[in-house]
Amino acid sequence: HPAFDVHAVRRDFPILEERVHGRPLVWLDNAATTQKPQAVIDRLAYFYRHENSNIHRGAHELAARATDAYEAARDKAARFLHAASSDEIVFVRGASEAINLVAQSWGRRHIGKDDEIVITWLEHHANIVPWQQLCLEVGARLRVAPVDDLGRVMLDEYEKLLGPRTRLVAFSQVSNALGTVTPAREMIEIAHRYGARVLVDGAQAVSHLRVDVQTLDSDWYVFSGHKVFGPTGIGVLYGKLDLLNTMPPWQGGGNMIRDVSFEQTLYQPAPARFEAGTGNIADAVGLGAALDYLERIGLENVSRYEHELLLHATRGLAGIPGLRIIGTAPDKAGVISFVLEGIRSEAVGEALNREGIAVRSGHHCAQPILRRFGVESTVRPSLALYNTREEIDALVVAVRRIGEGSSVLRY
Ligand code: PMP
Repeated sequence: HPAFDVHAVRRDFPILEERVHGRPLVWLDNAATTQKPQAVIDRLAYFYRHENSNIHRGAHELAARATDAYEAARDKAARFLHAASSDEIVFVRGASEAINLVAQSWGRRHIGKDDEIVITWLEHHANIVPWQQLCLEVGARLRVAPVDDLGRVMLDEYEKLLGPRTRLVAFSQVSNALGTVTPAREMIEIAHRYGARVLVDGAQAVSHLRVDVQTLDSDWYVFSGHKVFGPTGIGVLYGKLDLLNTMPPWQGGGNMIRDVSFEQTLYQPAPARFEAGTGNIADAVGLGAALDYLERIGLENVSRYEHELLLHATRGLAGIPGLRIIGTAPDKAGVISFVLEGIRSEAVGEALNREGIAVRSGHHCAQPILRRFGVESTVRPSLALYNTREEIDALVVAVRRIGEGSSVLRY
């Protein structure tokens, strides 16, 4: 790959030229969703202009084009995750739907009364609630691996939770609330020693670091397209092929069947058996274009660049009086969470917005981990490959001013 040039990258994202309240937009809400490069926007338009059709049926030219484009996107997702086969890639709406699919399909069949599911304190609600619902339904128990004061999963405590009743471990590779990178490879290896299956929530990982599901050896891996520069409404469930093929279908309908009579239905193998009805064809194709884009830039380049940027942001923010960073693990990606003493996080977010700086403030759909650190909400700037040191400096200056701040912002 050629050297990483952030200014060239920025030219690929037309929305970065927007102005907000008369200021250049500073988009630091990438953990919520990422912006889209022109290549993705163009690919969506191209699909609707030249290829639009339903797929997998209809023997005509546009059906063939749409099917080819959709299946090519599946191949790109397989290569992106280094899956062994494209059949291991199921298109879903996003990470949330992928987790619910596994909980409802595999979970209902393999998790029973008094069985245990292990998650961590770091989890997004999307990786808590579906398991809680399943536990209620089947009489299983949810157990939660604690994190230390830096926001790292405590591995020895995690292992103590595992036992003969553990059927499943589910955890995020990168925390959306603190930015902690979990030792996924090690956690999976430990879980497998206890005979548990493992689902990795990669929603916050895929835009920041190279993922290889075969090296990880995760049984499932999920992510959302919109957090990796692709469209909303499309995401990926990766699963090991033999595992996917033993999972019962989740939703029934067209496309997922081999044969239907009123007496019985025979299902397709994976991935088709999990793609009932007309899927989000155009956005899958758009996601393929996003993954191509990221491959062209090179995830190694992205990781290296963002690592420096995160250090720069951490140093800058940490120097502000009254500012407390929540989550100070040595291994982090993309996210900084902080609170400013005496000022509501929402007020900080609003004040930043008036300067054109977009961050999220709130609980980030991860209430338990924030409460673990004694707060109900934080301010969360989050990075992507198109952010610059100048933008970080603007953020730091603005937060410092807010901290010194106007009394109207005080509690
Ligand atoms: N897991 C994590 C770690 C996330 O950050 C998110 C999105 N904030 C999700 C799951 C859910 O993703 P989606 O809303 O796209 O389904």
